[in-house]
Amino acid sequence: MEKERGLLIVLSGPSGVGKGTVRKAIMNEDTDLQYSISMTTRQPREGEMDGVDYFFKSKEEFEKMIADNKLLEWAEFVGNYYGTPVDYVEQTLSEGKDVLLEIEVQGAMQVRKHFPNGVFIFLMPPSLSELRSRITNRGTETDDVINNRMKVAKEEIELMENYDYVVENDRVELACERIKAIVTAEHYRKDRLVDKYKKLLEVE
Ligand code: 5GP
Repeated sequence: MEKERGLLIVLSGPSGVGKGTVRKAIMNEDTDLQYSISMTTRQPREGEMDGVDYFFKSKEEFEKMIADNKLLEWAEFVGNYYGTPVDYVEQTLSEGKDVLLEIEVQGAMQVRKHFPNGVFIFLMPPSLSELRSRITNRGTETDDVINNRMKVAKEEIELMENYDYVVENDRVELACERIKAIVTAEHYRKDRLVDKYKKLLEVE
């Protein structure tokens, strides 16, 4: 019998909302999700490792990936490229495993075009002031970058309409629980199961 494809779960939301923290917390738990490691041209932050946090690439290498159609989506974000390698995603989904992307909103909208059946989750900050303090507390960015990220974040929040779910990140553990509940429920959607169970009827 043909193997069922996994679900593509897209976690997105404004810069600084804590997508990375929530994604790491989910991946640290014993879930069946496979995380797709992104490529970026930005410099590694302290403690980040190539092949774990990102695949760190030069601008030339990244542009070659774009030209060779090796990226499912990509975006330029605050002066750097970020993108999702397509082969890993396709391969993993075809093995029947669920794949988690953690990407910014422009990229999420591109993914939606290719994967209308994906599950699109928008992570929402409790408030804009909370968002600003999270971006500031990270301590790795200059004032200019912080202000730019806040401006981008407000535009990003307006794109919430295009998502299937909105999850508030008031506390990381709660956000994780909500996302896991969404993934579980998505597996039992009638539209995903109806063909499978109709085939069962044919067997008797
Ligand atoms: P950071 O530089 O803080 O790690 O990431 C900046 C933004 O890029 C975050 O919103 C992050 O979710 C997003 N991002 C990370 N990987 C990708 C990717 O592969 N594609 C897109 N479109 N955005 C990404």
